[in-house]
Amino acid sequence: MSVVGTNERPLRVAIVGAGPAGFYTAEHLQKREGLTVAIDMFDRLATPYGLVRLGVAPDHEKIKSVTKIYERIATHPGFRFFGCVEIGRDLTDADLADHYDAIVLTVGAPVDRRMGIPGEDLAGSISATDFVAWYNAHPDYRDLVVDLGVEDVVVVGNGNVAVDVARILTTDVEELALTDIADHALELLRASAVRTVTMLGRRGPAQAAFTPKEIRELGELAGVTLVVDQADLDAVSEVSGDEHAERVMKALHGVAGRTPAPGDRVIRLRFLTSPTELRGGHAVSEVALVANDLVEQDGSLRAQATDRTDLIPAGLVLRAVGYRGAAVPGYPFDDRAGRISNVEGRIIGDGGTALAGRYVAGWIKRGPQGVIGTNKADAGDTVSGIIDDLASGRLLSPAHPTQDDVAALVAERVPGAVSWADWQQIDQRERERGEPDGRPRRKFASLDEMLAVLGR
Ligand code: NAP
Repeated sequence: MSVVGTNERPLRVAIVGAGPAGFYTAEHLQKREGLTVAIDMFDRLATPYGLVRLGVAPDHEKIKSVTKIYERIATHPGFRFFGCVEIGRDLTDADLADHYDAIVLTVGAPVDRRMGIPGEDLAGSISATDFVAWYNAHPDYRDLVVDLGVEDVVVVGNGNVAVDVARILTTDVEELALTDIADHALELLRASAVRTVTMLGRRGPAQAAFTPKEIRELGELAGVTLVVDQADLDAVSEVSGDEHAERVMKALHGVAGRTPAPGDRVIRLRFLTSPTELRGGHAVSEVALVANDLVEQDGSLRAQATDRTDLIPAGLVLRAVGYRGAAVPGYPFDDRAGRISNVEGRIIGDGGTALAGRYVAGWIKRGPQGVIGTNKADAGDTVSGIIDDLASGRLLSPAHPTQDDVAALVAERVPGAVSWADWQQIDQRERERGEPDGRPRRKFASLDEMLAVLGR
């Protein structure tokens, strides 16, 4: 029998999820010296790139240029893409174990965390994860009901997603018209009545999760006044030693003390404030707030509600309090942590031991934190584990370790699966559609439109 990892018998790896973590996993495997690898990457969508396509804000085009690296990875010999194939639905873990030496789940964190307050599910209260997917033309969210005919918006959370949605809601729509934002979002934003976006941080400015660059960007938006109360910053006593906090405070000081210019839209940052209830009839119209104190608990600073309350108008509430992983059928899931249990990328079964040949990388491994590049080192660690397990004979022993066997199985279960060549056609068509308007691309927001490009 040929040795696994050679030209005669390549190491066969299934990567589930075509986002950054999936591509970096592929790259680390491809770059291993002396190893021949055949990678099949699956995604439940027709399009690759995960959050780079469907999460990164449309006006952050430069960040998306990372896809050029992913395109190179996809041209490596032995790499195949199977779009529209969902693991746990179309193919099971047993199917994969029958065809691959190793399975790596890089499925990300697709759902939102809950705030757990009354009124959270009123109309007009939308998770930022859904809102972001909607303006990025994710096919599952094209019909999300978004009402931008409102003047006051509240964004809950102090992370970069909160900043993204606040910026998209206030940026001059003619600037957004030059991006790859979904056509349906552009249409609503053109008619938007939004005047004020209030961002709520439950802790203080020094504990904010957003990054300085994103704050400076908010401060530079044309036609928008970013309002940061100087007193909120002066109340912060000590941040020395915490580099992130120091940089964020510096950025906030740089934009503090402004008063809204006439005619400007306003983004207002409020700190030490939590929503306690979303109020309204059918749809949200007000947000009840409570002021918080910071208290030290178990070595970290937490928000503790005081008895000082407030009520502000809001016709739209975007909950940007973090993403959360979702279970993949056939694999263990730690519901409390919102991740697949693992030790250094090896999936841990219910008995507490590693499941042979099953791995994770990216957000489903470590939680929804870090930037795109963070996934590179993270995937590298997982791949090191795979290589160690290959050396010590702890991978799977597939009965059908050939590309043809997988192709036949996919053809049977998902006759309409999308290949890399198919995606390239869709990609090219999107770019061409964008050209006349000076846009990088005009995205298709439905599978039917994409399949039409392929003549299906
Ligand atoms: P995040 O950075 O974890 O921020 C979540 C925010 O929600 C925190 O401010 C958190 O406050 C707050 N929060 C959590 N539960 C809350 C509650 N019940 N009530 C009020 N506030 C609550 O998550 P994210 O913004 O979703 O971003 C995810 C990752 O993607 C981050 O690593 C981010 O940097 C990255 N990202 C980067 C960019 C970029 O580079 N431009 C853009 C988008 C996203 P506490 O700190 O008090 O928990």
